[in-house]
Amino acid sequence: MRAGEEGMKCEVCGKEEAVIFQAHTGRSLCKECFFNDIKKRVAEEAKKQGITEARKVLLAVSGGKDSLVLVDTLSSLISPSKIVAFNIVEGISGYNRKEQADKLASYMKGLGVELISTSFKKDVGFTLDEMVNSSNAKGLNVSPCTFCGGFRRKLINNAGKLAGADLVATGHNLDDEVQTIMINLIRGDLTRLVRIGDSPMKVSENFVTRVKPLRKIYEWETTMYAYLKGYSFQEVECPHIITRPTLRAKVRELMYSLEEQRPGTLLNIIDEFDKVSESIRSSSKFEELPRCEICGDPTSYGRKICKNCELLIRSGLLPQYQKYLPMS
Ligand SMILES: [Zn+2]
Ligand SMILES: [Zn+2]
Repeated sequence: MRAGEEGMKCEVCGKEEAVIFQAHTGRSLCKECFFNDIKKRVAEEAKKQGITEARKVLLAVSGGKDSLVLVDTLSSLISPSKIVAFNIVEGISGYNRKEQADKLASYMKGLGVELISTSFKKDVGFTLDEMVNSSNAKGLNVSPCTFCGGFRRKLINNAGKLAGADLVATGHNLDDEVQTIMINLIRGDLTRLVRIGDSPMKVSENFVTRVKPLRKIYEWETTMYAYLKGYSFQEVECPHIITRPTLRAKVRELMYSLEEQRPGTLLNIIDEFDKVSESIRSSSKFEELPRCEICGDPTSYGRKICKNCELLIRSGLLPQYQKYLPMS
């Protein structure tokens, strides 16, 4: 690491000592110039995604590094009064800690951002642990991340509607986004694939449009940003990480090795993908999604109920809706 060399100057301002080596630009940066670089890149995405024009934006925050960087950068770009931070307690034993929730509340207060919270238990009726235990007891081979991701999306959308937000933003970074692109490509899931793109896409009247302002910021950059800002973020790893979906783990590893061989690869992938996605979108017609007969949320074409409700039924948690199984 060149930036580790004693006394090396920042290649942007030429004054301060460099603390970061940014492999994809080949530059060594001081703390302030690094912060400015990240803010500038987030501002560019935020503009493309309509955040600067929005009346209200709901930011999904977890207390992890990405969500802290999300609120930090956006609250310096638009008025904090236009931002509502939203936190979900999943109900994961040993992971959701009171101390972390208190820290999150104090950071949001310091940034002048309103924070609202809810939990899976309160809004869905079950903690994540309860869902996973029931699913395991039924012998279903469903990853906890599938439950967690699906219900987080549902609750974030509901909270966005309640808060009267034009947009809901999540802290997904470049690494996450490229992994998702590759996974959908491998699975041949074109519907999901073209929802990813440079500009926000309204997929249903019942979904608040989702945006990802950090989608061009490397994961190592969000980590360094949070660290250099002195944020003490949630460092306890989710205990379910060991059962993380294997495909994502494999794709993640592959992407890291490509990036290591040629820094900037992930940024190239996303830029090229965005162009393809935009051109597919502009030549296609998207019909309104059908609604789940149980919870009313939008679901995929050809389905009667949504994936979330199906998972709860299969796990034995919604016995009154058993008649919806087996799904064709
Ligand atoms: Zn500098
Ligand atoms: Zn449903």
